[in-house]
Amino acid sequence: MLSIKNLHAGYGKVEVLHGISLEVPKGKVVTLIGSNGAGKTTTMRAISGMIAPREGQVMLGDVDITGRDSHRIARLGLAHSPEGRRVFATMSVDDNLLLGAFPRFTGARARGDVAADVERAMEYFPRLKERRAQLAGTLSGGEQQMLAMARAMMMNPEVVLLDEPSMGLAPILVDEVFRIISRLRAEGVTMLLVEQFAAAALNVSDYGYVLENGRIAVHGPADKLKNDPAVQAAYLGGG
Ligand code: ATP
Repeated sequence: MLSIKNLHAGYGKVEVLHGISLEVPKGKVVTLIGSNGAGKTTTMRAISGMIAPREGQVMLGDVDITGRDSHRIARLGLAHSPEGRRVFATMSVDDNLLLGAFPRFTGARARGDVAADVERAMEYFPRLKERRAQLAGTLSGGEQQMLAMARAMMMNPEVVLLDEPSMGLAPILVDEVFRIISRLRAEGVTMLLVEQFAAAALNVSDYGYVLENGRIAVHGPADKLKNDPAVQAAYLGGG
């Protein structure tokens, strides 16, 4: 579904990704693990068009999306829920979700039933349901993070990129985020996930890639990576 080949990307004169290749098959959850600064967020940005790749190819299904602008990529069905909270502060929770469906109305993809999808999002995120009329800017940090994730789902995307959905959340909300990810996985949503909680991320994933200094060092089925002593020592808090 999402296929990246020999991707090079960076900022200014600095190259951060030195030719990475990875695959996210339809209906699978793939996690990208790596230390701080390894290039995980940069990978997400280069896929979704937030930065332009310098070399390599990004394919969404059979469409080459390399270097296209982010709005077009979104319209083609790729949702990116970026690191940190990005909600429309002066709009209600409900309106933020409705806006999330906007790319469905500008492309050739099926529009579907937006109102039903808002209700579905509310069911996934009960905390948002209780606060649906509240202005997004007045939600707690964790609630805003959930709203950003729910909004990405409103695109009815072919592929979702989730960058650190648990960042800054209280432990109870972290658990809730992972429960939601597993539920989306069970429904067949295709996802590329970046998470600081690498072990929890592997538990909800089919496959994983380890990024070291802008290169893929190891990859394999999630179970296998979880049991790999080197991966355990470096990323899963010891063996
Ligand atoms: P973390 O786990 O800390 O979020 P990461 O693996 O997501 O790390 P990136 O955010 O992709 O890492 O950053 C990779 C490198 O690119 C880092 O050295 C970072 O300082 C640099 N970098 C990231 N964003 C920018 C930017 N906008 N301009 C310049 N350099 C950047």
